[in-house]
Amino acid sequence: MTIVCKFGGSSLAGSDNIRRCCEIVRADENRRYIVVSAPGKKNKTDRKVTDLLLDCYKNRFEEEPFHKAFTQIADTFREIATLCKDFPIQDELDRMYAQLKSSEANLDFVLSRGEYLNAKIIAKYLDCAFLDAAKFIRFKQGELDLEATRKAAAKLSLSGRIVIPGFYGLDEDGHIKTFSRGGSDITGSVVAGVFGCELYENWTDVDGIHVCDPKVVENSKRVTQVSFRELREMSYMGASVLHAETLLPIYEEPIPIHLKNSFNAYLPGTEILKKRTEVAEKEVITCITGKNDYTCIQISKMMLDKQLGFVKKVTSVFEEYHINISHTHSGLDNICFFVEHSQYVQISFKNFLKELNARIPADKIKGYEDMALLAVIGHNLSGKVGILARIFTALRENNINVKTIYQSISECNIIIGIENGQLDQSIKALYSELIEKE
Ligand code: ASP
Repeated sequence: MTIVCKFGGSSLAGSDNIRRCCEIVRADENRRYIVVSAPGKKNKTDRKVTDLLLDCYKNRFEEEPFHKAFTQIADTFREIATLCKDFPIQDELDRMYAQLKSSEANLDFVLSRGEYLNAKIIAKYLDCAFLDAAKFIRFKQGELDLEATRKAAAKLSLSGRIVIPGFYGLDEDGHIKTFSRGGSDITGSVVAGVFGCELYENWTDVDGIHVCDPKVVENSKRVTQVSFRELREMSYMGASVLHAETLLPIYEEPIPIHLKNSFNAYLPGTEILKKRTEVAEKEVITCITGKNDYTCIQISKMMLDKQLGFVKKVTSVFEEYHINISHTHSGLDNICFFVEHSQYVQISFKNFLKELNARIPADKIKGYEDMALLAVIGHNLSGKVGILARIFTALRENNINVKTIYQSISECNIIIGIENGQLDQSIKALYSELIEKE
């Protein structure tokens, strides 16, 4: 069995934590590919190395703030390098300094240096090979190019244990390109997919996936298993478990993910599988989450069901303004589009409504702002008798007005539209009703 282990930033914050992670690696010789993040926060007030690199980039023409950020990065890595007897840390830091100061350094290159140097030091400490992610991870038009990545990976001849920096690869012009923030999770799954691993262990600082965000419900229940579908829904609806694009490279095989806590390695964690192998009655619901700041556009037209191409006409206007639709609900004579507020970049929400009114031959087009979407995610929710009644009762008892509701037959979510500002209260109410009372 070949395992890829990815360690997150907080698991690698400082030499003590790295030592702990390396003990985990050494404990199983199947742990062959080790993907690492840049060092994260040890204490709440610390700053992640990637954030400090961002400061360096922003202040590259200002001596003092650049120096301040770089000194913190250098101190962090110097402390980590004490793990190894003879790592040339000063040479590496001098080189990094010159690169960050260079007029040729683009933002992605600068941001990638935390992962790069961390992986080099950890490889030395583990006494194994370092493989730069730029050797095989490929991007095309800003997105991961899995085909090209597979081809580049197939040309490598690798043996023994290998440490790989997460978060970046090369674009079609040969420049360093990063994933979006938190993207080392994607590197982990790319490595699992292209090097034929049977298991992807993702090591973080939490005990696994919990039903609710701990900032909203402290100590909510940990779930033992989650399906790929459920994970997609969770990430999409705001639960910060893994990067939302993590599944793509491993979905087909499929390669299971095991989420574990590097600080408490003996705990069972949470398994993420294509299909859950056991669905205990008490574990039907795996997540209660949600996001604020949605807008909703409702378009009504009599006999909408007979209007061929009507929806296409509407969505082409969204496309023209690069507005991504998060959800749609449709009825007989109306259709609703839910869009995150942040999507209105090229045009304001108000002007977009005007544009739709001018171009779409509808009976009525109405916009709602300041909506939140609440999501209950779990296995076969549509097959569970009485769940909606319990949700509505809990929300009513907390004076929360339900504006919309959506439940699909085959999927694993119930999405409820409420007012902005009522999300945390709703999540608490549903947790108490659906989980604590079970
Ligand atoms: N270091 C990057 C970040 O802080 C990537 C990662 O850790 O996944 O976002």
